[in-house]
Amino acid sequence: MTTVTTTPTERAYEPVIGLEIHLQLKTRTKMFCGCALSFGDEPNTHTCPVCLGHPGTLPVPNAEAIHHALMIGLALECELAPRSIFHRKNYFYPDLPKGYQISQFDIPLWGRGRLGEVRVHRVHLEEDAAKLVHAGSSGRIHGAEASVVDFNRGGTPLVEIVTEPDLTSPAQAGEWLRLLRATLGRLGVSDVNMDEGSLRCDANVSIRPAGSADLGTKTELKNMNSFRFLERGVAAEIARQEEIVRGGGQVVQETLHYDPTTGALTPLRSKEEAHDYRYFPEPDLVPLAPTEEMVSRARDALPELPAARAERFERDLGLTPETARLLAFRSELGDFFEAGLANGSAGATDPRTLASWITVELVPRLGDADPADSAVEPGALAELVRMVSAREVSGSAAKEVLDAMAAEGGRPSSIVAERGLGLAAADELSRVVDRAIEENADAVEKIRAGKDKAMGAIVGSVMRETKGRADGGEVGRMVRERLGLG
Ligand code: ADP
Ligand code: MG
Ligand code: ZN
Repeated sequence: MTTVTTTPTERAYEPVIGLEIHLQLKTRTKMFCGCALSFGDEPNTHTCPVCLGHPGTLPVPNAEAIHHALMIGLALECELAPRSIFHRKNYFYPDLPKGYQISQFDIPLWGRGRLGEVRVHRVHLEEDAAKLVHAGSSGRIHGAEASVVDFNRGGTPLVEIVTEPDLTSPAQAGEWLRLLRATLGRLGVSDVNMDEGSLRCDANVSIRPAGSADLGTKTELKNMNSFRFLERGVAAEIARQEEIVRGGGQVVQETLHYDPTTGALTPLRSKEEAHDYRYFPEPDLVPLAPTEEMVSRARDALPELPAARAERFERDLGLTPETARLLAFRSELGDFFEAGLANGSAGATDPRTLASWITVELVPRLGDADPADSAVEPGALAELVRMVSAREVSGSAAKEVLDAMAAEGGRPSSIVAERGLGLAAADELSRVVDRAIEENADAVEKIRAGKDKAMGAIVGSVMRETKGRADGGEVGRMVRERLGLG
């Protein structure tokens, strides 16, 4: 009998993760003035006295931004506040000319909601700060490296989404953020581009003894700007906290910067650490009280959302949950899939087979590219899949056809014809199989002795001879028939 002893240092810990997401809305104009939104335009070409914080100017809320924020709250099944309040969040920083950011504080537009397995704590509207550009050595002032400010971004409408601490692993956090991004992207309210910063994510991380109901002290990782960095950064922070706790220490509540290239986590000194923002209600704005008409207009604008789409793919088309999510959470893949089903040879393409060709064969050939930008037409892939099912082309030859389609487009039937990739005709195949049996006496003996693995040698030989224009299963059947093995 063995006894298992557990010392306190071997105790299991479980991570607790909550996310704060900032989303730049894709409205025509800024949150409180008429300046156009821009990304990558000449610096300081989209400014006015309001977004430059000149004294005596008045903010005017952007109706389109409110409409977008209403759509987001509805999509996340949140509770609407009848009257939400804009506050001034006061702090000094060169990217904030007014000396305060207008944001919602104690009464956000939306309260409690949910997306998938994660509860949403709140959703509120605010404005983005301007952008500091570090000019480096080219911008030296009195020998010091200088920074310059581009006010184009200042005043861009932002929606902040705060989750409850319901996530329990880095992978789950990444997967959930993918679902959120797909959902927001589907709404069409934002570019949801993490590289360009239109979707930004801070991760709050703590650990606790497995099974405990209490929350541990959390740290906050700022600006995880890709799914990969989010997952790696959170994993690194969990490991760091475990090491501290196992060493008998205590986690300190702080804000950290994760460097994806070195993996280092370093404390961040920033404006976010100011403890007192002296929030007070913005005196120049009335409470935001959406009318029923505004809410129903937002509801009418909701498209089918990724979670519902995944369920439909599973229920109506028989996809596995994993494949359904993969296609639905990457909307562009879902769109490609559905376009393929609609444009393939009417009803002859099996959805499950098409889905598997997209996820297994097409996605790796695309890399990070949008399938809509690839040379492969959805209908052409559906056609290829149908040809494989109808045994007009072998699976391995079809991969070569797909390579050609990815490189230069075109229809599979013409590529198959041009390159002579169609399945070998019955008489040709028959001859090749006979020869393979003759030339592989060893393998034949083993097959007769019941060693089915030896079939591989014969099938391989036929494949080489026909350059992949044969169906492995069919070759196997022919060999058995010739050897009188039923
Ligand atoms: P703060 O007041 O520091 O901003 P909040 O309570 O507003 O903290 O929570 C901010 C985010 O941190 C939310 O996403 C929340 O889910 C998450 N969070 C709060 N406590 C913890 C914890 N102990 N561990 C992990 N995440 C947490
Ligand atoms: Mg907070
Ligand atoms: Zn402006």
